[in-house]
Amino acid sequence: MTLTIALSKGRIFEETLPLLAAAGISPAEDPESSRKLIIGTNHPDVRLVIVRASDVPTYVQYGAADLGIAGRDVLIEHGGAGLYQPLDLNIAKCRMMVAVAGEYDYEAAVKKGARLQVATKYPQIAREHFARKGVHVDIIKLYGSMELAPLVGLADAIVDLVSTGGTLRANNLVAVEHILDISSRLVVNQAALKLKYDSIQPVLDAFARAVTA
Ligand code: ATP
Ligand code: MG
Repeated sequence: MTLTIALSKGRIFEETLPLLAAAGISPAEDPESSRKLIIGTNHPDVRLVIVRASDVPTYVQYGAADLGIAGRDVLIEHGGAGLYQPLDLNIAKCRMMVAVAGEYDYEAAVKKGARLQVATKYPQIAREHFARKGVHVDIIKLYGSMELAPLVGLADAIVDLVSTGGTLRANNLVAVEHILDISSRLVVNQAALKLKYDSIQPVLDAFARAVTA
């Protein structure tokens, strides 16, 4: 039975390679240099499909992939329907933060009950965060480069992933609130886990051992 694993290029692919190796799986090609979207492995019955990071849960939910690896950010925005999430892989770690322009007084705006314009790629996480704080917001959905929004008057604040803080600093932004710690998780199609248990369980076990090692 063929096992299909959905991965995104870049940091998730790179940080997943050691986990795949622990499960005895090595990709036949490098997705960074290959234009192929389906990549074989040393196992004739294991293949990788290369998709956009935010599309991984969708491929797994519908069973087009049996397994996938996706960030907690992506999984919250997706909602998790149809997905079993057995393992935090502790890779691609970063933090979801609220950030504003250096000269913007966020505390004062919140204190006086101002309605904030918030630009983000993560509307679900942003909405929940500000609802919990009791702050009224208009969410402005963006698909990239959130850092620009406060600089050109599109938004008062952004909700974005931060790892080193270098991009914020380079654009005179400051992080004012930590929302969530983010890492990537293994996701499994719930039906596939039952139907392909014998091929999936060894991969889960190998990943789990590699994560704790
Ligand atoms: P795309 O680049 O297709 O718009 P993306 O930016 O979400 O999507 P990646 O940059 O590959 O895709 O990020 C994949 C996952 O890695 C994210 O969902 C998040 O969980 C995590 N991540 C994002 N940025 C960082 C970062 N700076 N450091 C560590 N992990 C990160
Ligand atoms: Mg990115």
